[in-house]
Amino acid sequence: MSAKNSKCPRCNEKSNTLKKRFYSDKAADLLVSLGEISEGKIEEPICQFCYLEVRDLLVDESLSTPFGDSLVSNSIKKTPRKNS
Ligand SMILES: [Zn+2]
Repeated sequence: MSAKNSKCPRCNEKSNTLKKRFYSDKAADLLVSLGEISEGKIEEPICQFCYLEVRDLLVDESLSTPFGDSLVSNSIKKTPRKNS
């Protein structure tokens, strides 16, 4: 069975970017409670697209470092600052 033909459990699209993602307990609880990922599927690999959505959502929810410091500080750096 080829990984390329696997479906993402979140968006149901076939994807070759499926990868196991690691969430903090708090992040996993939040995703399940928001209905983003069903409880039984939190351990399953999701595609890159879903990962980015989920990551943005967790950053929006201001969870402290759901995926590690580097991702959070990257997203902070990307935010343009106005000095006007
Ligand atoms: Zn997906």
